[in-house]
Amino acid sequence: MRIILLGAPGAGKGTVAKLLTAYDGSVQISTGDILRGAVKAGSELGKKAKGYMERGELVPDSLIMEIMEARLQEPDCAKGFILDGFPRTIPQAEDLEKLLAKLKLKLDLVANLEVPRDVILDRLTTRRTCSNQDCQEIYNIKSKPPSPDGKCLKCGSPAIQRADETVEAITVRLETYNQKTAPLIGFYGKVGILKNVSSLSSEQSVKEITGAIKK
Ligand code: ADP
Ligand code: ZN
Repeated sequence: MRIILLGAPGAGKGTVAKLLTAYDGSVQISTGDILRGAVKAGSELGKKAKGYMERGELVPDSLIMEIMEARLQEPDCAKGFILDGFPRTIPQAEDLEKLLAKLKLKLDLVANLEVPRDVILDRLTTRRTCSNQDCQEIYNIKSKPPSPDGKCLKCGSPAIQRADETVEAITVRLETYNQKTAPLIGFYGKVGILKNVSSLSSEQSVKEITGAIKK
């Protein structure tokens, strides 16, 4: 499948994307994960992206498009891809249309994960992420805690709170989402491939998405 997951920070895009990869072998492509990997590795890309990310702001479109143009042409994308965190702005969506046309690929679906704001805030402040770049398992101190000493249950690395998960950065991220990313719902609505999905449970979202693709 070739799909885009839209939704506010904390809507559960990462969790839903991981569940969907198990469905048909499509790869999850998370621009957030790619950028965090680059920051940790200290690469040129990472150096350029770091400040924006820590403030909760978007990284410039040109950098993101450079990443995605290369990523979508890697061999593992042949089975399909689940875009998680991209596109994030109207210019990114327009550039993606051009890129897909060039690669002769069509999207199956854009799933908009809908979650009430109070649920989002609660999720973001209680979220912990495995610090091992190759694992990145997501935890929640209330509903899915790491080990009692804060370690990842899969790989044993510390499960940490992301630098952009302070209340200040979260507020900026939600505002940025409303201003820059929410307009994509209208954009893909017009294209005619948008499906609104209630994202209170990730299993339910996955069912709704795979059901819509089968039709
Ligand atoms: P979130 O939980 O906020 O959706 P992500 O892991 O998707 O977090 O992204 C983390 C940060 O990486 C964003 O706040 C932003 O700075 C940057 N980022 C990720 N994807 C994009 C994108 N498509 N365009 C611009 N910036 C991005
Ligand atoms: Zn881990």
